[in-house]
Amino acid sequence: MKILVCLKQVPHQDARLDIDGAGTWIKEDGIKFEINSYDTFALEEALRIKDAGEAEVVVVSIGPDRVTQALRTALGMGADRAIHVKDAEIDGSDTLGIAKVLAAVAKEESPDLVLMGLMSDDGNASAVPPMMAELMGVPSATAVMKATPEGDGYRCERELEGGALEVVDLAKPCLIAVQSGLNQVRYASLKGIMAAKKKPMDTKSAGDLGLSGVVGAAGAKAQIEKIYAPVRGEGAEIIEGSTDEVVTQLVGKIKELGLL
Ligand SMILES: Cc1cc2nc3c(=O)[nH]c(=O)nc-3n(C[C@H](O)[C@H](O)[C@H](O)COP(=O)(O)OP(=O)(O)OC[C@H]3O[C@@H](n4cnc5c(N)ncnc54)[C@H](O)[C@@H]3O)c2cc1C
Repeated sequence: MKILVCLKQVPHQDARLDIDGAGTWIKEDGIKFEINSYDTFALEEALRIKDAGEAEVVVVSIGPDRVTQALRTALGMGADRAIHVKDAEIDGSDTLGIAKVLAAVAKEESPDLVLMGLMSDDGNASAVPPMMAELMGVPSATAVMKATPEGDGYRCERELEGGALEVVDLAKPCLIAVQSGLNQVRYASLKGIMAAKKKPMDTKSAGDLGLSGVVGAAGAKAQIEKIYAPVRGEGAEIIEGSTDEVVTQLVGKIKELGLL
C-alpha cells in the first residue's frame, strides 16, 4: 500500500500579509510559512493508515526552497519519503497547472491512495483535488469527514450543507480530499525530527516530469488580475478596542438605530 500526500506550504495564519508591487500576489519576504491546515489532517490520516498496517507514506510539495521545511516536518511526523518539485518554470501556474504537476508525480509513484486537503488556506480554490483525480483517471471525493477501508477501496463520508453527510464508495486507486477536523493531528516528536534528517527527499523539475512548457504562467488559462483589500464604504464605521469594548459599542449602535 502506497499513499501519496500533497502538502502545500502557505503563509502562517498569524503572518501580516501585504500585497506585492505588481498587485497580483503577497510579499513573501520575511513572513513565516506553515503546512496548509487541511493538509495536516490529510497527512495524519495517512499516518494512521500506516500505523494500522503496512503502508509507505510519500509526501509531495511544489514550491521554492522554503517548502523543504514543510516536507521535513512531515517526515518528522512519520512520512517515509518526500518529493520536492522545484522549478521557476512552474511559478505562475493556475490550479490546472498545479494539478498537472501533482498528477505527473502520482503517475511516477502509482499510489493506491492520494490524500490531500479540501482547499488551501491562501488560494482557497478547492480545485486542485478534482482536477488531479481527472488527470489521473481515478475516482475521488471531496470534503471527506471520515474514510474507512471497505472492500477494495474506501467508504467516505462527505460533509454536505446543513450538517448532512453523504456516503460514497471509492475503488482503489482513488483520491480523497479531506475536510478539516476529521482527526487529531499529531506533533513531530524529537526522535521523529532526528530520524527525518536521514529520510530521502528527491527534487524534481517540470522537465523531469515531462511538463516543460506546459505549466507555469505560459500555460495558465486563469490570470490573477489583481489582489486588493476591499475599500471601506461611505458611512462604514470600524469599531476599535477590546472584545468587551467592541461588543458594548456595537450593542449601543444597534439600540441607537432602534433595531433592538
Ligand atoms: C496567474 C497566476 C499566478 C500565480 N502566481 C503564484 C505565485 O507566484 N506564487 C504562489 O504561491 N501562487 C501563485 N498562484 C496561485 C497558484 O496557482 C495556486 O496556489 C495553485 O493554483 C493552487 O491553488 P490552490 O492553492 O487554491 O488549490 P486548492 O485547490 O485550494 O488546494 C487543494 C489542495 O491541493 C494541494 N495543493 C495545492 N497546491 C499545492 C502545492 N503547491 N504543492 C502540493 N500540494 C498542493 C493541497 O493538498 C491542497 O490542500 C498563481 C495563480 C495564477 C492564476
